[in-house]
Amino acid sequence: MKRYQRICALSIAIFLLAAVLQGCARTGGVREYSEDIFALNTWVNIRIYAGKNGPDILDKAIKRIEEIESRMSVTIQDSDVSRINSSAGKQPVKVHDDTFEVIKKALKYAEMSNGAFDITIYPIVKLWGITSEHPRMPTDAEIQDKLKLVDYRNVVLDEKGKTVYLKEPGMGIDLGAIAKGYAADEVARILKEEGVVHALINMGGNVVAMGGKPNGKPWRIGIQDPRADGVQRHIAIIEIMDGSVVSSGDYERYIVDVYKRTGKRYHHIFDPSTGYPANSGLMATTVVAPYSIDADALSTTVFIMGAEKGLEIVEGLEGIDALAITLDKKIYASKGLKERLIVTDKEYELQL
Ligand code: AMP
Ligand code: MG
Repeated sequence: MKRYQRICALSIAIFLLAAVLQGCARTGGVREYSEDIFALNTWVNIRIYAGKNGPDILDKAIKRIEEIESRMSVTIQDSDVSRINSSAGKQPVKVHDDTFEVIKKALKYAEMSNGAFDITIYPIVKLWGITSEHPRMPTDAEIQDKLKLVDYRNVVLDEKGKTVYLKEPGMGIDLGAIAKGYAADEVARILKEEGVVHALINMGGNVVAMGGKPNGKPWRIGIQDPRADGVQRHIAIIEIMDGSVVSSGDYERYIVDVYKRTGKRYHHIFDPSTGYPANSGLMATTVVAPYSIDADALSTTVFIMGAEKGLEIVEGLEGIDALAITLDKKIYASKGLKERLIVTDKEYELQL
């Protein structure tokens, strides 16, 4: 055999081998691995399609979620957030890059929403205790008193030293509206790094889809019925290959006023201009975005601002879509989502 023929034969052999190996990677040995954990105050499910090292990949992802929780939880005593809060009015606190980036992003959304999204809402969150073991209805005087401490402009960041300082004593931050999104993005980043192509991450309504389903079809994300009373039931579906779908709503965590028997719902998303649960005429919102941190912050923001103003902000953001469900079961959606949304419940009416 002449030299160039040998090279040709060798190249063809290598090509065939590569094709066979690639085929193996695609089908042989790849199966579904799934794990559920409770973290960041919610149930987390990670489903991946991987080879034998699937359990190790899941382990790595879960360790990362726990690391983020240990830094950003408001209830873990030595977390960055707790240290920032206990140093309010005293001194700046050095934090991990993670925490710094999330707070920076949160302040960006505070500015964009003119303070509707505001992580310094913590004194109000604590006062109502909706997500705690002992929720209660505070008096108006108590609310006005705590409201004085709510102002994102009093959060001082030092980019170089990676420190965070809350100017007023008694101030506090709560990353509950944005940390899950960050954690979900971090899980997706780790999965990609580990070579995972198809995955679905669900962190209590914070969903990240990767690579579509293994059969090539898009992931179908159900939009929860906001009045299904704790039962999983969807009213619409969003199909997505890659990206994040995040929902917020008055149905996630709330108390009902049984004391005065009004039956009124007091939920966990507060309007920083009143100190009361946001009352913009919505029961739920959903945001679709390339990154979950943006979808998370925005779903809370749109919920507080209401359908009109909230969707106006979203329309101005490239590649981001949203829907808002009103108390009378009308669905308003951004232009990009209107044609994609599959409504499955006739009681809910998509507004065109
Ligand atoms: P989410 O479920 O992402 O909509 O976030 C709700 C959580 O965000 C609440 O449980 C609070 O911890 C926090 N939160 C409530 N109101 C606000 C607000 N106006 N801005 C930022 N975070 C908020
Ligand atoms: Mg949120």
